Amino acid sequence: MTNSIRLGIATCLLGEQVRWDGGHKRDEFLVGTVAPHVEWVPVCPEEESGMGVPRPPVRLEQDPHGATRMVDPKSGKDHTAAMTRFSKQRVRALADEELDGYVLKKDSPSCGMERVRLHAEKGMPVRKGVGLFAAELLARFPHLPIEEEGRLNDPGLRENFFERVFAYRRLRQLFIGRWKSGDVVRFHTAEKMLLLAHDPQGYRALGRLVAAVKTVPRADFQTQYSSAFMTVMRKLATPRKHVNVLQHMQGHFSDQLDAAARAELSSLIEDFGHGLVPLIAPVTLFRHYVRRFDVPYLADQSYLEPHPKELMLRNHA
Ligand code: SF4
Repeated sequence: MTNSIRLGIATCLLGEQVRWDGGHKRDEFLVGTVAPHVEWVPVCPEEESGMGVPRPPVRLEQDPHGATRMVDPKSGKDHTAAMTRFSKQRVRALADEELDGYVLKKDSPSCGMERVRLHAEKGMPVRKGVGLFAAELLARFPHLPIEEEGRLNDPGLRENFFERVFAYRRLRQLFIGRWKSGDVVRFHTAEKMLLLAHDPQGYRALGRLVAAVKTVPRADFQTQYSSAFMTVMRKLATPRKHVNVLQHMQGHFSDQLDAAARAELSSLIEDFGHGLVPLIAPVTLFRHYVRRFDVPYLADQSYLEPHPKELMLRNHA
């Protein structure tokens, strides 16, 4: 496995001039903030499938049988078969790329993940289409973290996406080679707080799976655990769930804190719960106490550092 995080990406988001009009859609957050921490695997389905740059723009149309077609509305040329063939091949090849996630391009008839304009014979287009390449990608990699650049402007969705990307990498590392049941228990223990912040019920269901690890065939266990783990991670962490996790962690060293320090930590957690300070504030204080009081159980928790701090994903209130 490579050391760096590998993200598939719609090529135009990197500033490459591959769009139908010869332009690009460079995304400053991805190119400026994220790029130093990842290796990109760019794919432009329209350019790579031979449609050329520049090229006539295409759109999604619904045929009379309800099927989605990719059509050049000016000439009427139907690109569906060629794009579907290309997408199947390219997505199959991506299986060897060891991807940890994928960033798609919103609204694109090739790369849009959801709400792409779908034109019918009559009336206004409805926003319920999925780009042809994106549809293949989503079907082939159901647990791979996949997002659109537009949705990454939302701080909560952005944080969730990158938490999933880094968690997916740790999960893949766990199951590389001949893993033992002890490795699974250690992994699950270290992910506890992070999982609780996303979905406490899902965490408990995962725990039941882990308890039965020795009774389930290895391949089945790996599939079931990976699927359930990524499903839990997809649930959005909320301030209330974070507060529960922080209070739970506080219990691990509250005996070692004097009354003033306990009150300060409690008030910081409360301020976070009320949206007055970002999550990074109480988490930084926790990291300090975990180091100072040497609490190995908490030091191992991915929750305290689930992604590089330079991404500043926990800095929004
Ligand atoms: S949206 Fe997809 S197909 Fe369109 S230019 Fe970008 S990468 Fe290429």
